[in-house]
Amino acid sequence: MVIVMAPEANDDDITAVIGQIGVHGGQAFVSRGVMRTIIGVVGTEDVLETLSASNIAGLTGVAETMRITAPYKLVSAQNHSRRTTIRVGGVPIGPDTFTLIAGPCAVETPAQTLEAAQLAKRAGATLLRGGAYKPRTSPYAFQGLGVDGLRILADVRNETGLPVVTEVMDASDVDTVCEYADMLQIGTRNMQNFGLLQAVGGAGKPVMLKRGLTATYEEWLMAAEYIAQRGNLDIVLCERGVRSFEPAIRNMLDVSAVGMVQAQSHLPVIVDPSHAAGRRDLVVPLARAGIAAGADGVMVDVHPRPETALVDGAQALFGESLDELAQAVATIPPLLGRTSAAHLAG
Ligand code: PEP
Ligand code: MN
Repeated sequence: MVIVMAPEANDDDITAVIGQIGVHGGQAFVSRGVMRTIIGVVGTEDVLETLSASNIAGLTGVAETMRITAPYKLVSAQNHSRRTTIRVGGVPIGPDTFTLIAGPCAVETPAQTLEAAQLAKRAGATLLRGGAYKPRTSPYAFQGLGVDGLRILADVRNETGLPVVTEVMDASDVDTVCEYADMLQIGTRNMQNFGLLQAVGGAGKPVMLKRGLTATYEEWLMAAEYIAQRGNLDIVLCERGVRSFEPAIRNMLDVSAVGMVQAQSHLPVIVDPSHAAGRRDLVVPLARAGIAAGADGVMVDVHPRPETALVDGAQALFGESLDELAQAVATIPPLLGRTSAAHLAG
């Protein structure tokens, strides 16, 4: 059983819940998060039965109690009649809307980031992506501008009004990244970096959790559970392609993941066709496939001059291709009953 305390619950409320768990023979595991406290209860079926019957859900400060059979409790779709909408700087990501996120793979210069953000905005994107800390296969490759990159992102947010999504790679950088970002991205290579997951779980910012290169749905959702267990349920799952046997494409976008994971979890699911394909010509078609499969949003790389990009230039869209994607974002989601924030360039 999992007990989610209301954000306004105080220490006395939490102590009373722990006391009641103890009285009925259960063991309480308390995670005090910035946003809310979560209490996991371990006990036999009998213990959980008597605890439920004791009306623990009625105690002051208890928001929700859940008996969940899935191994991931807080992110499971069980006990949720509707999927959740997450807000990032006021921008919704969830079942009723469709969210376009665009920006450069890496922040390179203030001008390049601003130009990319303007292309994103022109195409109707409502969130800006951009990496200041880059996870690179080679230690000799450009590693990102670090804090200078974060400052550029914050300046561009001020200029364009687009809230910022950016990756954090190390638990020791979480506080710094939080000073500048609106949403923290966990990259594919860090999906099972449990210390980092716990750190972002306690950071008080929405998190985008990318699927690991070879992660099963359950492993992905268990990673999300690490974040949730620290009191942060503002998580968006991002399918970004998995390793396959085919060398012609970088990764294989798993379109099935959208429906499968949406059925298993109440969290929003978006797709990143750029990091799946690794090549520009496939990005818009794959994005369309993701939208049609019911994704809650799409995240793509765009660059004002992809041929000069320091990272992932081959997959970065030119502004015109992003406008083509905007057409799909404006037309397909409404067919599926979603409101699209996209507005085409005039
Ligand atoms: C990225 O989005 O910039 C990125 C590095 O993605 P991934 O972790 O999916 O490779
Ligand atoms: Mn990239």
